[in-house]
Amino acid sequence: MMEFLTQCRGIVGDAYVLDAPADMAPFLTDWRGRFTGKALAVLRPGSVEQVAALVRACAEHRVALVPQGGNTGLVLGSVPDASGAQVVLSLVRLNSIRQVDPVNRTMTVDAGCILQQIQEAAAAEGCLFPLSLAAEGSCTIGGNLSTNAGGTAVLRYGNTRELCLGLEVVTPQGEIWSGLRGLRKDNTGYDLRDLFIGAEGTLGIITGAVLKLYPQPKASITALAALPSPADALQLLVLMQDHCGSSLTGFELMSRYCLALVAEQFPQLPKPFAEPHPQYVLLELSSSESEQHAVGLLEHAIGAALERGVINDAVVATSVAQSAGLWQLREHIPLAQAKAGKNIKHDISLPVSRIADFIAVTGPRLETAFPGCQLVCFGHLGDGNLHYNVAPPVGISNEDFLDNQDKVNRVVHDSVVSFGGSISAEHGIGALKRGELAHYKSAVELNMMRAIKAALDPLGIMNPGKIL
Ligand SMILES: Cc1cc2nc3c(=O)[nH]c(=O)nc-3n(C[C@H](O)[C@H](O)[C@H](O)COP(=O)(O)OP(=O)(O)OC[C@H]3O[C@@H](n4cnc5c(N)ncnc54)[C@H](O)[C@@H]3O)c2cc1C
Repeated sequence: MMEFLTQCRGIVGDAYVLDAPADMAPFLTDWRGRFTGKALAVLRPGSVEQVAALVRACAEHRVALVPQGGNTGLVLGSVPDASGAQVVLSLVRLNSIRQVDPVNRTMTVDAGCILQQIQEAAAAEGCLFPLSLAAEGSCTIGGNLSTNAGGTAVLRYGNTRELCLGLEVVTPQGEIWSGLRGLRKDNTGYDLRDLFIGAEGTLGIITGAVLKLYPQPKASITALAALPSPADALQLLVLMQDHCGSSLTGFELMSRYCLALVAEQFPQLPKPFAEPHPQYVLLELSSSESEQHAVGLLEHAIGAALERGVINDAVVATSVAQSAGLWQLREHIPLAQAKAGKNIKHDISLPVSRIADFIAVTGPRLETAFPGCQLVCFGHLGDGNLHYNVAPPVGISNEDFLDNQDKVNRVVHDSVVSFGGSISAEHGIGALKRGELAHYKSAVELNMMRAIKAALDPLGIMNPGKIL
């Protein structure tokens, strides 16, 4: 392996091949601190050509590599295994905005650009890059594409897949495929771009991308509605979509337990209602006309919902600061959970129409199997995506309860699948959910996935042990 490392040093320079344990440490542990792998080295290329040369060296020496962006992934996809035989290939030095084309409404970027950097570069041109998630100050667009990240604006703009027109990829053979086409129509055979998006680094390394830009909305207005049940939240969603169409840009469900947890852990945050309600929905409307237009639309729709008895009460933010305060309640749910202790997390999706039935059925199933367990259920209801987390009963330690992870997963995921849902909505599979994927996907689907992997990466050097 000395020869391999010498070759790598020749490609990127000594400073960018890290093999001292202290230098490698920040790259080896996942974001939530659940797993620390070992690596032969961490490679930090500074150009696409260097990435390609490093991959050729890996192929020659049969060294497996783990592509890594911001290392904010939540499914153990971006960290190496425990063998010490893999290398981490960090993309963060590839961080240039290559071009902005405001007329084509596209931006061409390096894969290691931080999401926030891309949002800011778009805004500087008067445009919007709508992908937005709580990790945006640390995650990279290459990681967003490789996990097909979702976030808070999917309802209006779609997942990362829908925000990408073209890719540049280094193949497992170390060739550079330049598919950086800014075309909205391009039917010229198999869509290779779509293969690499969501592949979690198992088929190749994304080094660049052409992203879609949108006009900046003139105003965004937020409201918090209090409701009796998830079924009412679905009725509210339909009503809002009928009244507001594509102006509805956010629709987030939060249970009473979630907001109680936030109030307990972060007492300084606003408490919009005097009395608690069973469910809450955070709504966001964006207008390309004016703030007045957005407020008018929102008040009209909320009025109709109150009149029909779909909601109990609502608070409409009248300023940007108030809007931010309402969003903070939603964003602090994961933080409040983390402060309260570890729990068993599920990132699931369902047909939107079946979410209320899923919630009604799954809670009692869990209660039967784990009496007293507590559900932290919230998520992007408009996209059919729930974060359905299970915390221990009072009196049982969080650590002890984690021993039940497999059994809890089985109850939740069996229920998800029985409602036609998916066991991973936006975080991916990584190493964490590989067993669950094998359990639930059909042999036909798994075999097609394996065939694609074998065709593109016959040596199996691209992030082995992830997904498949
Ligand atoms: C606080 C917090 C909030 C989050 N919120 C959301 C959310 O709302 N929605 C959501 O979808 N996710 C969310 N995530 C998960 C995570 O941020 C996203 O998955 C993000 O897209 C990962 O980007 P990254 O650069 O950190 O990728 P990494 O974690 O470094 O890598 C993720 C995967 O992509 C691969 N990869 C990385 N870069 C490349 C590349 N250039 N080429 C090929 N493969 C590559 C890695 O091997 C790994 O399998 C959140 C995470 C945190 C910590």
